[in-house]
Amino acid sequence: MLDWRALEEKWRRRWFEQRIFEANPDPSRPKFYITVAYPYPNSPQHIGHGRTYTLADVHARYRRMRGYNTLLPMAFHYTGTPILAMSKRIASGDEGLIDTFKSIYKVPEEKIREFKEPLAIAKYFHQEIKSGMIDMGFSIDWRREFTTIDPHYSRFIEWQFKKLRDLGFIKQGSHPVGWCPVDGNPVGQHDTLDDVEPEIGEFTLIKFRSDDSVYPTATLRPETVFGVTNLWLNPSAIYVEAEVDGEVWVVSREAAEKLRYLNRRVEVKKTLDARSLIGSFVVNPMTGASVPILPASFVDPKAGTGVVMSVPAHAPYDYQALEDLKADKETLRRYGLEDIVPPIEAIKLIESEGFSGIPALEALRRFDVKDQNDPKLEDATTSLYTHEFHTGRMMSNTGPYSGLLVSEARVRVKEDMLSKGIADRMYELLNRPVKCRCGAECVVKIFENQWFIDYSNVEWKRLAKEAAANMTFYPEEIRAEFEYTIDWLREKACARKSGLGTPLPWDKEWIIESLSDSVIYMAYYTIAHLIRKIDPSSLKEEFFDYVFLGKGKAEEVAKICGVDPSLLEELRREFTYFYPLDARHSGRDLVPNHLTFFIFNHAAIFPRDLWPRSIVVNGSVLMEGKKMSKSYGNIIPLKEAVSKYCADALRLALLATAELLQDADISLGLIRHFQERLEKLYAFAEEILTLRCKGEPNYSIADRWLMSRLQEVVRKSTEAMEKLRVREAIHNIVYVMDQDVAKYQKMRAGLSEGELAAKAVVLRQALDIKVRMLAPFAPHICEELWHRMGGEGFVCFAQWPNCDESKVDLAALASVELIDTLVEDTQNILRATGIKPKRVLYYTAATWKRRAYLKALEQKLGAGLDLRRLIRDVVQNEPNLDPKKVADFAKKVVEDLTSTPLDVAKRRFTVGLLDENLVLKEFSNYLTKEVGAEVSIFSEDDPSRHDPKNRAELAKPYKPAIYIE
Ligand SMILES: [Zn+2]
Repeated sequence: MLDWRALEEKWRRRWFEQRIFEANPDPSRPKFYITVAYPYPNSPQHIGHGRTYTLADVHARYRRMRGYNTLLPMAFHYTGTPILAMSKRIASGDEGLIDTFKSIYKVPEEKIREFKEPLAIAKYFHQEIKSGMIDMGFSIDWRREFTTIDPHYSRFIEWQFKKLRDLGFIKQGSHPVGWCPVDGNPVGQHDTLDDVEPEIGEFTLIKFRSDDSVYPTATLRPETVFGVTNLWLNPSAIYVEAEVDGEVWVVSREAAEKLRYLNRRVEVKKTLDARSLIGSFVVNPMTGASVPILPASFVDPKAGTGVVMSVPAHAPYDYQALEDLKADKETLRRYGLEDIVPPIEAIKLIESEGFSGIPALEALRRFDVKDQNDPKLEDATTSLYTHEFHTGRMMSNTGPYSGLLVSEARVRVKEDMLSKGIADRMYELLNRPVKCRCGAECVVKIFENQWFIDYSNVEWKRLAKEAAANMTFYPEEIRAEFEYTIDWLREKACARKSGLGTPLPWDKEWIIESLSDSVIYMAYYTIAHLIRKIDPSSLKEEFFDYVFLGKGKAEEVAKICGVDPSLLEELRREFTYFYPLDARHSGRDLVPNHLTFFIFNHAAIFPRDLWPRSIVVNGSVLMEGKKMSKSYGNIIPLKEAVSKYCADALRLALLATAELLQDADISLGLIRHFQERLEKLYAFAEEILTLRCKGEPNYSIADRWLMSRLQEVVRKSTEAMEKLRVREAIHNIVYVMDQDVAKYQKMRAGLSEGELAAKAVVLRQALDIKVRMLAPFAPHICEELWHRMGGEGFVCFAQWPNCDESKVDLAALASVELIDTLVEDTQNILRATGIKPKRVLYYTAATWKRRAYLKALEQKLGAGLDLRRLIRDVVQNEPNLDPKKVADFAKKVVEDLTSTPLDVAKRRFTVGLLDENLVLKEFSNYLTKEVGAEVSIFSEDDPSRHDPKNRAELAKPYKPAIYIE
């Protein structure tokens, strides 16, 4: 057993003592700059967090081995309210939270008592997370570490906000935000359960009227107002009559509450029994038609106003509910609707390709919907809405909008109704319900006099798109999500009245919030270790303008800020050397906010040549197929996992099961599996390193085969690493290589000095390649092995292996391919016949056959297979042969070659005349072991061969004939 802890600690100590991950500008070398989203220290990291950071570290280590001067820094994000909220919960004695800290995160009790102070929480978990990252062996330049409440960083954020404001991208005004009614705070992704970003949509409220009140219906499809046949209320929900901005409205009780957050004056007059409203009539404000109010159970009182307009021709829900109601005689009788409902007919107002009748009905049929509770209804709805939006046209029953595209009509109808005062706007969460971390359901609030970053600015969006268009995304398929986000992003609240962070420079009662002070800090890392030498009060706008934008002259700026001009120049050199950022790593959940803000802000503040070059996005981590959560009890802190197993195995397990966007599914068993494999590698290395090589190596086919295969693994792994397809890389480096080496060990034979020397050389080559390629993934053990192999310096800086084509021996590959097929064919015969063989006889094809085969290969790779020409050529060259025999053979060869893959054909043609008899003889021991019997090898050319059944005639090139005794 390996003492993993001692081994890993030893190498971490050496890396640290020799400061090998501290990257400094070096104009003689190309640089590579990688960052990964800094962690929020309100809890320690668990295994799930490990994936993103491990991937970034593997990326950094790989780039270092490709010769890049690579920088990977780290910092800690203190900004925001969650830590504050946590300290309040601790202060109020929240048992659940205290228990989580104690039992899952193993925080000592005396520490928890200090957690009433928010900074104590941040500092404690900061150290926890940092030591976990060190334990994992992340190759971080810790000199550049900072927190987002450091005074120097605050000056930097002030500069960022000054720049945005000068550009006109910061506004003050009233805008809708996601809001927690219990906490009284805006909510972003960091504040919600499951970390979802609240997405806000603008609905149109169409005001249907009865004699004394308004029935406002919230819709995203105002153009369908021409097809309304009725309204829906949920008879089991509670509705209220409320005075809203001077009008009497009938809405659900929940809606009345929501309208208050949207800055309307709402006074609830009385509660209504929805059942008493059913059967009464209201007027469609657009058409003047009188339509009835009907009951429907699908109406959610929490959605919109709880009052729904029914457009059965174009809304599958409405069509289905109307059909259900028509069939429900009991309900019709109870509400006295027997004469009202049956005559209702859908009113079609949009025509689109592929729908000739009532579109909603056709959609219901296509999706095979059963009733209004069928989940397929949702799919039918989405599909029809999208189709009509993109291809639909308004029909003649829509008056002035007739002939317009649906996408145009939607805007025009809405504007017209708003200007006539028969409609209004209502903001609502599109992805509701969104739950705050406190458990409350979030709503939309119109936030007055709030500070916003204006991501809706058209010019800015154009720049952001340009930046994205010039970036590489890993994987490329995530690009569309970025483009979508750039399109829908609107004004984003950027400051709050509480929490940790940097006050807005021009309005100090506001604190810049966490998704706004974390978008260009990658630039700050480049100078973070040097800026501390300067007093924060010297960090004026001119200072950052010079360092990041190259404005002004060092001498003058130094004078204005009171700093040493040479230090100022040094900072500028650090920044211009490492910027732009080469790769930004993060989880997929940050695409709709952080990562897109990162693109926007770089595009706004920095010149084009400093815009980021790539973004790497990864999926999440499942534990034994399940999401990690407290309720499943499957959260394992990273530090705990490292100390139980080892960092190297954990790193491999985190990356081995999934490509970038897929969810990784790990288990303790998988970590153990990798630990065992690494231990086997260690034992294998010990064995190889004791192999003596005396004399000149005498290479056999098997030796040359393994050397060739190694080049193939190097080529494939390198291609995978370049695309960060780490699962594929690990598959090749760990499994494919092990299989090849195991096969080689079985195939090779010979005990002469030269043969043993060859084995030693080849296996050491395999070990060398393996250790180099595994080093980014399992750096500790690879460092140890590298050291034992006598490698120079640290393996972290060893060169990543190059695929050396000169070592690829096609004849060796073709030979082993021949042996593999032969073994498989023999085993198949034995299995099918059930014979227990005494001896297996092989006959390799006659020389004339092999020559003819080569001719045929030439044809296949050239002008194409031509049987008659083939026969003619062979007969000309071999006049002593029976022409019938030649014809029969040529026919078979042409048949075989028709289905032979091109790469195989090319290889065989390049190899030329392979002496198959010699190959089989070299592998005779291996063949004996594999088929479990004595083996004899003859050539068809050999007249004295033992061939009682005339099998030799059947021999073909690459397919020796087989006879079993
Ligand atoms: Zn809340």
